[in-house]
Amino acid sequence: MPRALITGITGQDGLYLSELLLSKGYEVFGLIRGQNNPKLELVRTTVPDVKLLTGDLTDLSSLLRALEVAKPDEVYNLGAISFVAYSWENASLTTDVTGKGVLNMLEAVRLYSHDDPTKVRFYQASSSEMFGKVQEVPQRESTLLWPRSPYGVAKVFGHYMTINYRESYGMHASSGILFNHESPRRGPEFVTRKVTQAVARIKLGLQDSIVMGNLDAKRDWGFAGDYVEAMWLMLQQDEADDYVVATGETHSIRELLDVAFSHVGIDDWEGYVTQDARFMRPAEVELLIGDPTKAREKLGWAPKVDFPELVRMMVANDLEEQRAQAGR
Ligand code: GDP
Repeated sequence: MPRALITGITGQDGLYLSELLLSKGYEVFGLIRGQNNPKLELVRTTVPDVKLLTGDLTDLSSLLRALEVAKPDEVYNLGAISFVAYSWENASLTTDVTGKGVLNMLEAVRLYSHDDPTKVRFYQASSSEMFGKVQEVPQRESTLLWPRSPYGVAKVFGHYMTINYRESYGMHASSGILFNHESPRRGPEFVTRKVTQAVARIKLGLQDSIVMGNLDAKRDWGFAGDYVEAMWLMLQQDEADDYVVATGETHSIRELLDVAFSHVGIDDWEGYVTQDARFMRPAEVELLIGDPTKAREKLGWAPKVDFPELVRMMVANDLEEQRAQAGR
């Protein structure tokens, strides 16, 4: 039975990846941070077969202890402070967790597998936010990185540290440059879920309007359930490498609003949406669109859920959730 350790188990990707690995017969361990973590219950009910270990990405010795208990064949480093807007307000903490946390995990794996540097296969959750002010369209593995937020800068550090550990120590360390990926499990602070939740509440008469930031930004949005398969595939390759994981399509926030509102029968959404400076960012990533050719050719990976289907899935889930909460 293969064994995996996942950091960031309480997040959207941690849950989907756990389900995928459990379905493949893995023994799955998840790292949980802090006392009374409010998301603990969610993990226990969603994936009860995952074994939880206590640890923190900022505490190297806690990571070593977790590795000694889990004895993993594969480590998936998904843990991070991941909300871009928040990263300006907490730049130092974001740097410690999202950036230096990667180094701590790599170093823990290196120390744990000192007898054989390829004993543990390592996956680093890199991000399209590293492309920031894009230097090439579409973005691929070789595109120059130009991050536009403390979060993006921290992810660049983690990305290059992963490559460096691969090259310096011969570790099987891969980096997945994942473009935005969403699902009904996405946190409500991210724009897709914010919109689908609000649209559901407007449809049910629980809310009148939605306050948004920049409507012209464009993202390459895929389904998180598809993207965790790419993570797993990367660790099944003979050689570790870096891969862009994306749909190759981009859509603006306006198009997101179009599709989400149309699912509840509202074609003219202008009257429901206002804009406010508090949702604008000090520096914006205007356009992201990935070129997933390498992932397709080398991993045989392709996304299954397209943008309208993704939004439909999220709106349907939010309608159900909001109805249940409101007792309707
Ligand atoms: P990100 O790409 O990781 O920053 O993911 P988000 O879902 O947080 O944001 C995607 C894009 O939506 C960014 O360009 C935001 O500026 C834009 N956006 C516009 N209005 C909002 C909003 O109200 N909330 C969020 N989170 N993003 C918004």
